[in-house]
Amino acid sequence: MVYREQEKEKRKNDTAELEKKLKFRGRLAWDLLNDKEKEEAFRFAEGYKSFLDRAKTEREAAREIAQAAREAGFQEDCLPGAGKKFSFVNKDKSIALAVLGQAPLAGGIRIIVSHIDSPRIDLKQNPLYEDADMALLRTHYYGGIKKYQWVTIPLSLHGLIVKSDGSILNVVIGEDPQDPVFVINDLLPHLSGKTQDQKKLAEAIEGEKLTAIAGSLPFTDAEAKERIKLGIMELLHQKYGLIEEDFISAEIELVPAMKARDVGFDRSLIGSYGQDDRASVYTSLQAILSLEEPPRTVVALFVDKEEIGSDGNTGAKSLFLESALRALIERAGLPVTEALLKQILSNSKALSADVEAALDPNYPEVHEKQNAGKLGYGVCLEKFTGARGKAAASDARAEYVGEIRRIFNAHNVAWQMTEIGKVDEGGGGTVAKYLAIYGMDIIDCGVPVLSMHSPFEVTSKADIFEAYKAYRAFVSTP
Ligand code: MN
Ligand code: MN
Repeated sequence: MVYREQEKEKRKNDTAELEKKLKFRGRLAWDLLNDKEKEEAFRFAEGYKSFLDRAKTEREAAREIAQAAREAGFQEDCLPGAGKKFSFVNKDKSIALAVLGQAPLAGGIRIIVSHIDSPRIDLKQNPLYEDADMALLRTHYYGGIKKYQWVTIPLSLHGLIVKSDGSILNVVIGEDPQDPVFVINDLLPHLSGKTQDQKKLAEAIEGEKLTAIAGSLPFTDAEAKERIKLGIMELLHQKYGLIEEDFISAEIELVPAMKARDVGFDRSLIGSYGQDDRASVYTSLQAILSLEEPPRTVVALFVDKEEIGSDGNTGAKSLFLESALRALIERAGLPVTEALLKQILSNSKALSADVEAALDPNYPEVHEKQNAGKLGYGVCLEKFTGARGKAAASDARAEYVGEIRRIFNAHNVAWQMTEIGKVDEGGGGTVAKYLAIYGMDIIDCGVPVLSMHSPFEVTSKADIFEAYKAYRAFVSTP
C-alpha cells in the first residue's frame, strides 16, 4: 500500500517536470518581476504618462524626442567613433536617432522603427461655418477610427498655422485646465431611433457630421451676416492675427483633451489617448537613450503617417531612412557610396515596434485565444500581420524569430508570440514591409493594447516595462 502511494507520487512529480520542460505557456510579466523591478516598472510608467501628455501629435512627439536626444548628447553633426550620438530630423515630423557602434557599419546595424502619428480628427482646410446660431468646424478624421467614440468627449486643438506673410503660429487650446475645449455633439437618444439606432454601427455617425462646436457669441452689429462666425473670426484676428484664408495653410488636429491616467484599484494599467504607437515610441526612445557604446550601430526611427498608409514625405514609404543612413555613413567618416548603403541595409536587423491587439474579455470571439496577445504577458512578437491569409504581411523568417527569441530569453524579457485576431476576422498592417524591401530582417514587436484607436486606449504597466527591456536587449546585442 505504502509502495503504491509512493509510486503514484513519483509519477505525478515526473509528469509535472515533463510538462514544465516541454509545454510552452506564457507567464504573467508581474510574476517574473521581483519587488524592486515592480517598483521600477511603476516608476517607468510615470515617465511614460508624462510623455503621452506632452506628445499628443506627431509634431509634438518629434519635438519631445529631439529635445530628449539633445539633452542626452545627440547632435546633427557628430564626429566618428563608437558611442557618438547622431540625430536627423525630417520636416519636424519624422526623426532618426543613432548611436555609433563598435562593429563596422557594413556588417549591418540594429534598427527599431515606431510611428509617432495616432488616429485623430483633423480640421478641413476651409473649416469654419455657422449653423443654428453656432460656429462649427468641419473635420476630416485621420486614420481608422470608430466615429461614435469621438463624439461628446472634450477635445483639445493642436495646430500649426502658416499665415499669409509666411510666419508660423503654433496653438494648443484645451490642454490647460483653464482652457476651453471643443466637442462634437451627438443626437439625444429620444430622437435617434430612426436616424441612428436602426443603422449599422459604422454608418450611424457620418464623417461629415463630425463637426466640432467652436462658439456661439454673436458679432456686436446685429445687422451683420453670419454674426456668430464673424464673432469667432474677429476673436481669432484679435488674439492671433488670423484671417479665414490662413486655415488653408494650417494643420489643425483635434485630440482627446484627457490626460493619461492610472486605471484600476491597483493602478497596474494605463489609460490614455495615443498609446498606438507612443507606447513603442517612448520605450524605444528610452532604450536608445540608455546606450553608451553598443556593439553594433543602433538607429531608432520615428516615422509619421503610419495610420493612413505610410505614404507622404514623412512616412515609412519615403526614403528618409536612406537619407539618414547616408548622413550617418558620412558622420562615421566613411565615403558615402550606394554599394555601402545597400550593404548596411541588407545586413541590418530590425524591430517594427508597434502595438498589438490585446485579448478583449468582452469579445473573445474575435480572437483565437492560444495565439492572442494578452495584457500583462509582456511584449508581443508578431511573425506576420496582414489580413485574411496573411495578405500584405512582411512575415519574418523562422531563423530571425529564433534569434529574437534567444535575445529576449537571455535578458529575461517577458514576451508572447501573437497574432491580431482569428484568421478570417480582419487584420492590420505595420511599417515592417517597407523596411523589409531592403533585405533586412524585421519582425513586429510591441505591447498589447485594449480599445486600440479609441480616445482612451489601455495598456499594462508591466508590458510597457517589458517592451523597454526588450528593445534595450535588442539594441545591446552584437
Ligand atoms: Mn500602430
Ligand atoms: Mn494604429
